[in-house]
Amino acid sequence: MALVQCKECGQDVSSQAAVCPHCGAPIQAYALPPYAPPTNYAKGPSKIKSRPDSQLVWAILALFLCMPLGIIPLVYALQVDSLWNEGREVEARLKATKAKSWSKMIIFLAIAFWVLFIVIYVGALAWMISLTTSTY
Ligand SMILES: [Zn+2]
Repeated sequence: MALVQCKECGQDVSSQAAVCPHCGAPIQAYALPPYAPPTNYAKGPSKIKSRPDSQLVWAILALFLCMPLGIIPLVYALQVDSLWNEGREVEARLKATKAKSWSKMIIFLAIAFWVLFIVIYVGALAWMISLTTSTY
């Protein structure tokens, strides 16, 4: 059983005691440990304030797949960072959303175009083969 000194009266008191038997002051050793916030608490607000993804990767992919239309999401994506740096958080998020939706639409259209192109190409090739073989 350890002895601590009462901070009020200076006398030796048992560290197990909640209060000093001499003056009634609460004993420091018995007191609850200082409140420590949960470790994940600090991450919370910073996550909300995080910079929106500029969708630049998708915009560049859209630009490669579809040259003239791909400029639209690229312009939006490039505005995200500059708007964010100016503190225009809402506008930055809006541009990021626009860049994402435009990129997705262009990538979808480009894939649809290429699939259609291949189908027509294969179809034309099959038709040409059937023409050459039908003569025999
Ligand atoms: Zn005391």
